[in-house]
Amino acid sequence: MHELSIAASIVESVSEAAAAYPGARVKEVRLRVGALASVVEDALRFCWELATEETPLRGAALAIETLPVILHCEDCGAESAIETVQSFRCPRCGALAADLRQGREMEIASIELEEPEPSAAAPAST
Ligand SMILES: [Zn+2]
Repeated sequence: MHELSIAASIVESVSEAAAAYPGARVKEVRLRVGALASVVEDALRFCWELATEETPLRGAALAIETLPVILHCEDCGAESAIETVQSFRCPRCGALAADLRQGREMEIASIELEEPEPSAAAPAST
């Protein structure tokens, strides 16, 4: 199950990024996953819960945005999103297009942090 190692490496990157904001809680992590990245979304969500369990990221939501596969056709110059990855043909002219412009990504798009609770020691008003 390679989703577990993916989840673990996301936890690592997010923890590093969040370390710059001491006390902040990670609310949500947004991922961009290409349709060809061979990541099973349900498996990744399941592994995310496991991977965050014993970490400060526990309870953080995981949002997954799937990116379509985009082919660049050398014959007609079109860049098109293809519906199915069964066939890598240019939807415009039908030529075989092997120039993948998008579809294999697996990246962290954004991390949403929650500010720490304001210190109780600070007087509200007098
Ligand atoms: Zn074409």
